[in-house]
Amino acid sequence: MTKSITLPKKRVLIDGEWIDSPSGSTFSVYSPSTLEPIAIVPKCTREDTERAIAAAKVAAKKVAAMPVGKRAQLLKKAGQIAESRKEELARTIVQEGGKTIREAREEFWFSWIHYGDAAAEITRHHGEVVPSSAEQGGGSAGQVEGGTAKRILVTREPMGVVAVISPWNWPSDIPNIGLSFGLAAGNSVILKPASYTPLSGILLAEIYEEAGFPKGAVSVVTGSGSEVGDTIVTSPDVNAIIFTGSTEVGEGITRKAGLKKLLLELGGNGPIVVMDDAHIDHAVEASAVGAYYIAGQCCTAAERLLVHESIHDEFVKKLVDRTKRVKMGDLMLEDTDMGPLNNEPSARTVDAHVNDARERGAKVLFGGHRNKLFHEPTVIDEVTPDMLVFREETFGPVAPITTFSSLDEAIELANSTPYGLTAAAFTSSLRRAFLLAEGIKAGSVNINETTNYWEQQAPFGGVKKSGMGRELSKWIMDDLTDIKTITIDIEKVRDR
Ligand code: NDP
Repeated sequence: MTKSITLPKKRVLIDGEWIDSPSGSTFSVYSPSTLEPIAIVPKCTREDTERAIAAAKVAAKKVAAMPVGKRAQLLKKAGQIAESRKEELARTIVQEGGKTIREAREEFWFSWIHYGDAAAEITRHHGEVVPSSAEQGGGSAGQVEGGTAKRILVTREPMGVVAVISPWNWPSDIPNIGLSFGLAAGNSVILKPASYTPLSGILLAEIYEEAGFPKGAVSVVTGSGSEVGDTIVTSPDVNAIIFTGSTEVGEGITRKAGLKKLLLELGGNGPIVVMDDAHIDHAVEASAVGAYYIAGQCCTAAERLLVHESIHDEFVKKLVDRTKRVKMGDLMLEDTDMGPLNNEPSARTVDAHVNDARERGAKVLFGGHRNKLFHEPTVIDEVTPDMLVFREETFGPVAPITTFSSLDEAIELANSTPYGLTAAAFTSSLRRAFLLAEGIKAGSVNINETTNYWEQQAPFGGVKKSGMGRELSKWIMDDLTDIKTITIDIEKVRDR
């Protein structure tokens, strides 16, 4: 007899109410590690999403009217609540995301930093006073004859309703960028988490609600991209969308969203260039971290290793040795390095890329297989630009190596795909460092550091098919507010 297990039933937050399933439909969330269901989540409809948007529209006025100090205080409180629940948040990332507990705790901290950063940014984010060129007016008390009567203020105002549509690979960190900075900028925020990983998003909504944001200021609506996501994208009452996900879906959103403000964080295909003067051990370590961190399912992953032909043999030998040491296994053990891929469609893409490389003549030096969703860390040599593993985003633990013979060729190879999120280069020459940093088209170029490195107070985002707009710090505050120019004529008043 099989033992029946009662799965936890999750609820969504719409108009300040926690609801089991507004439409009665649900879907299951699975563990990538065990492939067992772990929770049941409401499958919201178009109508449910419209209700959340209508409530967010009402709440937006309340958030906008809140003194900035109060907004900062609520964000800090949310941070305290999150910290008190950190192990639960990390374990949820392990369960639904398939990260190791070490990676999940790291994601918790990335996610947690946003509460404080957004709270700090509120008070730093303000308008300007611009000088006037108008010549009329003058003569008012204390003013020199011929002076201008115009005063020009440039203010930043909340936009209204901001929607966050997020992917499964950072289920806590990425939604919380939009939630924390969206609220900091004085907007209400609706979160539509990825269907593979909705549980972390539901937890975030619980935290903001407990912190005391007004009813409707934060909603979480779970359900499919084609229904919940599409309703958000086409709604006239959503003013801005922060979408993080695949380039394909992102491009579809640009076609449907009309004149909404869009912040798009899309796919990547990051190269690491290793010059002949590079510190090879550092480059090997950065390549392994770049390719295998969260099983390669990172938009900033090192998807292509471009290695100077003169150091190729040494680099490859050291990378294979390093790869052999990557430990897969129980996600809850501190010394497990790498977990499974998140889902079967993603795993099939990795299989297709590895098989295509094999068929086109590349050499798989290590790995290349998977057991269920656990894919071996894989080193592929003699990769050429026509192969899928070079041209497209693989999103798996694969390190494809391509050789080059000159700096110009390295830059050309780095730029030869449609993506431009992050890139890295290893060299001991300052001249080459600058030429590489300036020549590679990407949102970020890291010199002597892996592609997976970013700092919370620096702008993050892509060029080309990797997206538009910049996240984090003051850059996202700019994107989540409208600029207004206020001109005042101080002479044309009655009470002179
Ligand atoms: P998807 O594009 O498949 O999905 C992202 C989100 O969009 C999900 O919530 C999904 O919902 C939703 N969605 C799907 N279809 C639509 C639609 N028609 N309208 C509106 N929303 C829709 O991406 P993945 O979740 O597979 O994430 C992986 C991708 O994200 C990779 O390409 C990765 O590079 C990229 N990414 C980019 C980052 C960056 O900062 N540049 C950071 C992290 C990831 P549902 O889950 O229900 O299908």
